[in-house]
Amino acid sequence: MPRPIEALVHRAALAHNLARARTAAPEARLWAVVKANAYGHGIERAYAGLMGADGFALLDLAEAERMRALGWRGPVLLLEGVFEPRDLELCSRLALWHTVHCAEQIDWLAAHKTHAPHHVFLKMNSGMNRLGLRPERYRAAWARLHALPQVGEIGLMTHFSDADGERGIAHQVRVFEEATRDLPGERSVANSATILRHHGGAGVAAAGEGGPRLASDWVRAGILSYGSAPDFPEHSATGWQLQPAMTLRTRLIATRSLQPGDTVGYGSRFTADRAMRIGIAACGYADGYPRHAGTGTPVLVDGVRTGTVGRVSMDMLAVDLTPVPAAGIGSEVTLWGRGPRETILSIDEVAHAAATIGYELMCALAARVTVRAVE
Ligand SMILES: *Cc1c(COP(=O)(O)O)cnc(C)c1O
Repeated sequence: MPRPIEALVHRAALAHNLARARTAAPEARLWAVVKANAYGHGIERAYAGLMGADGFALLDLAEAERMRALGWRGPVLLLEGVFEPRDLELCSRLALWHTVHCAEQIDWLAAHKTHAPHHVFLKMNSGMNRLGLRPERYRAAWARLHALPQVGEIGLMTHFSDADGERGIAHQVRVFEEATRDLPGERSVANSATILRHHGGAGVAAAGEGGPRLASDWVRAGILSYGSAPDFPEHSATGWQLQPAMTLRTRLIATRSLQPGDTVGYGSRFTADRAMRIGIAACGYADGYPRHAGTGTPVLVDGVRTGTVGRVSMDMLAVDLTPVPAAGIGSEVTLWGRGPRETILSIDEVAHAAATIGYELMCALAARVTVRAVE
């Protein structure tokens, strides 16, 4: 028998979550963001659940090829654009849309030979200071692109640093709108947190209380598609009506009875202060479970909520069986996602206990874990 750990990808949950994004931004077209191998879910496995999207956004050219190999003929957008001039050949061949975020990428386009003009999104650095042209350079870049025979449609794009937080998006929306006011083209500005927190519906919504109006023709649904809240713990996935798209589960492979004073695991980081039973689950940091999740990180045993005990080791972790006295070898352990009897343990809670975010845990699911797609 293989080691009992496995991950499940819930296709119906992916479809539900995308539909949730549509409800929040009903007039917008919807990119399903599938970078990082669909946030660790697997592009091929997630595809059936995400086919309701209008396009797929990613950044690895090999992943773009995989989308075409799946038979997707609609838009595929490279969120970081091309990395070197010859990548443009693949864009021409596979009709990939690509972001243009710097002057060098325009130079490369100008030297590129293509029959079909490329659909590009010109990205503005409206304040995040990662990718994009500064607002004062933006219009000149747009004019240059517009004059190129290699370029067809030019969409306008920016990305928000604080859509999930207190600072919000209004300051960046202001910069973006000022610099693009009379430019034609579709807008794409919203990530998951923007869709959930700043889109009131109708495709145009107030950017936060009293903020400027936000126009968004294409929204970019990443983390919400996978059923994690971009702004946990302020909001939970359930609160946003999202369903977990990934379950990580395993079984108990041993149980122990501890006496007061007994310690558990490396570094003896847990000491029993009473007689108690613990279980040893076949899951460790080599499976992608976060090592920094300390004692008390939530976990379900046979669908009953309890907590981890002591340090997570490479292949195992310990769980408190006090609330589940009937548990024994073979009992089901849900690390995150769906447990037995409709129970749910949010990946965000586990991430929070390990001082990280749901994004990182999904993406870090280890290659040694078998993943199965289910409805
Ligand atoms: C990853 C990414 C997104 C999706 O972000 P989420 O927070 O996962 O929704 C959107 N836009 C860009 C440019 C990205 O790189």
